[in-house]
Amino acid sequence: MRDAPVLLVVDDDPRTRGVVAGELRKRYRPDYEVVCADSADGAPRLLAKFRDDRRLVSIVLARQRMSQGTGAELLARVREFHRTAKRLLLIDWGYGPPPEPILQAIAFGHIDAYVARPVKVPDERFHRAVTELLEEWARSHLPRFEVVRVVGEERSARAHEIRDLLHRNAIPFGFYPVGAERGKALLQQAGVAASALPVIFLFNGQVLVNPTNAEVAEALGMKTTPGAGLYDVAVIGAGPAGLAAAVYGASEGLSTVVLEPEAIGGQAGTSSQIRNYLGFPDGVSGADLALRAYTQAWNFGAEYVYGNPATGLRAEGAERVVTVGGGSQLRSRAVVIATGVSYRRLGIPSLDRLIGAGVFYGATTSDAKAMTDREVFVVGGANSAGQAAVHLARYAARVTVLVRGKSLAEGMSDYLITQVASTRNIAVRHGAVVTGGGGTDCLESLTLQDRVSGTTETIPATAMFVLIGAEAHTQWLPDHIARDHWGFVVTGTDLLAGGAPAQGWPLPRPPMLLESSLPGVFAAGDVRRGSVKRVAAAVGEGSIVIRLIHDYLRGN
Ligand SMILES: Cc1cc2nc3c(=O)[nH]c(=O)nc-3n(C[C@H](O)[C@H](O)[C@H](O)COP(=O)(O)OP(=O)(O)OC[C@H]3O[C@@H](n4cnc5c(N)ncnc54)[C@H](O)[C@@H]3O)c2cc1C
Repeated sequence: MRDAPVLLVVDDDPRTRGVVAGELRKRYRPDYEVVCADSADGAPRLLAKFRDDRRLVSIVLARQRMSQGTGAELLARVREFHRTAKRLLLIDWGYGPPPEPILQAIAFGHIDAYVARPVKVPDERFHRAVTELLEEWARSHLPRFEVVRVVGEERSARAHEIRDLLHRNAIPFGFYPVGAERGKALLQQAGVAASALPVIFLFNGQVLVNPTNAEVAEALGMKTTPGAGLYDVAVIGAGPAGLAAAVYGASEGLSTVVLEPEAIGGQAGTSSQIRNYLGFPDGVSGADLALRAYTQAWNFGAEYVYGNPATGLRAEGAERVVTVGGGSQLRSRAVVIATGVSYRRLGIPSLDRLIGAGVFYGATTSDAKAMTDREVFVVGGANSAGQAAVHLARYAARVTVLVRGKSLAEGMSDYLITQVASTRNIAVRHGAVVTGGGGTDCLESLTLQDRVSGTTETIPATAMFVLIGAEAHTQWLPDHIARDHWGFVVTGTDLLAGGAPAQGWPLPRPPMLLESSLPGVFAAGDVRRGSVKRVAAAVGEGSIVIRLIHDYLRGN
């Protein structure tokens, strides 16, 4: 029988170590073995031994205050030995707000969470922190029922997409490379040739050969076409804005349908840890947040239609008709466009793997303070990159802006160029393109190419913020829904020209807040021009829009 996974406690004070270990043993034995290390120095030896013995380590709990080095320093090294172990920092009561080293440890992904060490037992707050980490860890390490088995090429883009889709929709699955014994056996049993991959095997015996998203959704019992009746609200996109609109729409008695071609959660669903969402001081995984919101809207009666995108939108009298990929149509009295954006990626897999662990896309404010005294790189030459550089320079020792062009004037406003130039610790490197880089658990190096000479160099780096633009998902909208130069939907007072609605607006009243140039069609979240690109802002707009839709429907 396999040995139980390890919970490792590191604390050099025998009394407090005993309390933590005792609490863990009471709750988690015999499923986990609780092991103690009596110093920060001794822990790496134990971790190496477990690795050599092929023992699974689920969580390392280390006390921050120890005589030989801090818990945060030790936890930063854990993944050298156990790549997937969770890391929980134990702080002492009365420590005050978390000091700089803890904030940095969180921002750089060196720890997963911190919690006050238990003093009076049982300490349910401590146990909740442990249980949440164990639950996340167990999802990928303990045997579980596989609803879906995927056989495919390990490096195939479509196989990767399907795995990502299943993962983001919280469907338990196993992946079996076609070259491995189990993969070959599954194909053989089903009599499927290895030439048409990926192949999906469902728990109920169904086999799908290279299926579309909609075919996968349908086979899993999900709805892939909308109902034929008239809905009150059609929400297009199930990111935070769409999910909030679904919760509020359905809870306020509106018949609400949500259309989502990929996975619930949108961009937020891909974030391993959202740390600035109200009410989650230790952060929350985007997938968890999305799943909670999905269930909440479902409980209120919202309907979900999966697997196909919206491909068109038109008005038929008071009805709004959304055409849906796959050939169906959705009729509704009001529509919320919540299709979000994608941040342009560098497209370098070794760097994208480190998102959140030294590589950051877009948002910078919540990570800036953690950059105190560090060397930081900002990639991009437009205003967003300039603003990020100036903001980061308040904390970082030095900020280097990497710009492809010969001059910042090609993409940045004058006032920002002046600010960048007058900030002592910002340097601009022109003609520099990031072509590679990586690190074991967090960013360690970047490879840069000089566009003029073609030479490349690899430099040490611990933090890089990439701001090379975002694309709004609005190509499917008709031309008469006004958008700005970058494709973001224009709403509310932004549609007014000289105080009056712009040409083409058909009603005597002005457009409402969040309403697009087609009455009854609203936009919420990142897709809207001028929106704040944050989870909380998207949730806020998704909630407000329902109030506006009530007003709109009353007037119709
Ligand atoms: C890696 C990462 C980490 C982030 N971390 C944070 C953070 O820590 N804190 C924070 O505040 N913000 C964070 N953000 C930003 C935040 O996730 C976004 O601001 C937020 O998700 C926007 O929500 P949204 O609903 O407007 O759009 P999105 O999240 O983009 O969701 C849009 C949804 O619409 C769907 N869709 C697209 N086209 C169509 C179509 N034609 N038909 C139907 N559906 C469609 C998409 O599949 C998607 O599910 C992060 C973003 C990323 C990428």
